Amino acid sequence: MNPRIDIYLDKIKHNAELLVKKAKICNISLAAVTKSFCAMPEIIEVLVDTNIKYLADSRIENLKKMKHFDLEKMLLRLPMLSQASEVVKFADISLNSEITTVKELNRAAMKQNKIHKIIIMYDIGDLREGIFNIDELISFVSETKELSNIKIVGVGTNLSCFGGVIPDEKNLGELIETAKKVEFILGYSLEMVSGGNSSSLYLIDNFKMPNEINNLRIGEAIALGGETTCGLQIEGAYKDTFILTAEIIEVKEKPSVPIGKIGLDAFGNVPSFTEKGNLVRAIVAVGKQDFGAYDIMPTDKEIEILGSSSDHLILDITNCKKCYEIGDEISFTLGYGALLALMTSEYIQKNIIRR
Ligand SMILES: *Cc1c(COP(=O)(O)O)cnc(C)c1O
Repeated sequence: MNPRIDIYLDKIKHNAELLVKKAKICNISLAAVTKSFCAMPEIIEVLVDTNIKYLADSRIENLKKMKHFDLEKMLLRLPMLSQASEVVKFADISLNSEITTVKELNRAAMKQNKIHKIIIMYDIGDLREGIFNIDELISFVSETKELSNIKIVGVGTNLSCFGGVIPDEKNLGELIETAKKVEFILGYSLEMVSGGNSSSLYLIDNFKMPNEINNLRIGEAIALGGETTCGLQIEGAYKDTFILTAEIIEVKEKPSVPIGKIGLDAFGNVPSFTEKGNLVRAIVAVGKQDFGAYDIMPTDKEIEILGSSSDHLILDITNCKKCYEIGDEISFTLGYGALLALMTSEYIQKNIIRR
């Protein structure tokens, strides 16, 4: 079964438990974000066995896969107008910033005889989704308050995604002030002030998490143990949760610099090379069609990645103690982008490992 991704359920569960415990110190509930592994039900099964409170995903297709799990489900990406009725059907809670969409959700909820919960997204600087100005927020809340089948249960924000803005006491303080204004208009207190994603976790360790933040939506830290503001690993969390394994199809000694006039490569870039003499090179049967242009790291630290094209990964194995032959498997840990791409690829076997 090559190429494949080995999925270590026990390590993913360990990461989730570790983070639930960490968040509990600050009375924070967690929504486990499942998009990086396409909401694979076998993985969700171990997550619901921890004390996470919500299941969250960006796509309706993924929420559908988890409809048999009891936890409340959250749609993370702002709903499409055209999907309002599916959103109400498969998500208990959705994140919103457009009143037109919320009105459509209300109509759908009336038809389905449901109360649909929403979290208002407020943009405190990252400039992806969210209401950006306080007057708009006030009219959004006042209008939504009149809708019979919509309930505002929280406010939230998203950081470190588009703009790379780091969450801190100041910008989360702004979110908390916003929550207070919303509560004042509504006349009841909100269930949730959702202070971001994995990039907000460092505030807990540094004793800087504002008290009023009581929810985080956590994906990467569960999936890969990553602390995403500086790209560090969370202490005690596993990174080797998802391992890509692929097979060597050629081993040959060749020069380090191509021979001939250099034009464009397969992706329209002009490649450059450093003269390092002859190298022992291995070609592995996996490529950009599988992992995109994202980070994969050989578990054998003596291997160096020279580059890749759509279906070929070229490695320098000159300095390896192990003597690699064709048919041997090479393993890689993954960055977030590679995980997302590989789990989505139909060419990659998904191999669940239970221990
Ligand atoms: C993807 C996403 C998350 C999870 O982000 P991580 O960095 O993986 O923890 C949280 N909130 C929203 C709105 C998202 O789209």
